[in-house]
Amino acid sequence: MISKLKFHLKKCFQYIRNNKNIDSFIKNLDVNNLNIVLTSDCDHATLKRHKSIIQPLCSNGIKITVATFLCLEDDKSPLAKHCYKNETTALDNKEFREFLLNMRDKYGLEIAYHGFSQISNKRIIFEKGLKLFREYTGEMPYTYVEHGGLKNHHIDGMCKKETLAFEGKNISSDYYILDILRENIKAVWAEHDYLDQNKENYLLEDFFYIKDGLNRFKRHKASMLSNQISRASNNSYFFPYTHFNYDLFDINVGNILERWDIYSRSKAFEFLYKLKDNGANFLTVKDAHKLWLSK
Ligand SMILES: [Zn+2]
Repeated sequence: MISKLKFHLKKCFQYIRNNKNIDSFIKNLDVNNLNIVLTSDCDHATLKRHKSIIQPLCSNGIKITVATFLCLEDDKSPLAKHCYKNETTALDNKEFREFLLNMRDKYGLEIAYHGFSQISNKRIIFEKGLKLFREYTGEMPYTYVEHGGLKNHHIDGMCKKETLAFEGKNISSDYYILDILRENIKAVWAEHDYLDQNKENYLLEDFFYIKDGLNRFKRHKASMLSNQISRASNNSYFFPYTHFNYDLFDINVGNILERWDIYSRSKAFEFLYKLKDNGANFLTVKDAHKLWLSK
């Protein structure tokens, strides 16, 4: 109870201290005609949180790609303790599913596959997830976004075994999924592939590439975005990667798109609406990938 109070007090002070900086950053943003591919992974977000962010974004012309699980499982692993039922919402929740489908049909939101669940899933379960995805949404996922840690970077218990850096490419493993991805998925984000170039003008070619017979894409850490955006060239592309419910980032200019709680949500909205007023084009991963293919 006391630590929770301390956490909130700290955030209140950060909010008071940095609010002016964030306001002036947004006010003075003069970069025009950017192309933004905003992606969020569903980890930790409840139905209520998802609705309170996705609804206003979509209805204001901010297209997004949201990666979701089919369900949450509990095998007592660290992965199961990290995200769990009621703390994270998945497509097996009818209200969540209907909400996302409504946003997709009305505003062009993209629902991406984040795996069957948050724990390690054998190939047979991974495939079952794809079938369920089609049953729930009427189509196969276009985009797959890996969940979990990166093998050799995070502890093994936090890494899903079917990830491509773990056993996903090992043909003799029960967790081999490379062939399933090749057959079913058009765009894959895997192996924590972040864009680390320090450029002023990012092209589609900087994000999409082919590896292991898969069309893959890179993302920007959303925490790097405001710094990069302020010196971007017009028409540059950005692929910010955020979580709509990960509230541990400090409140400051750099983290505008990492912060979606009651303290900072309105600033994230203001930032995106300002970009839109400045002519930004918002695309889903699917839109951007199709554009890249057509070039
Ligand atoms: Zn995730």
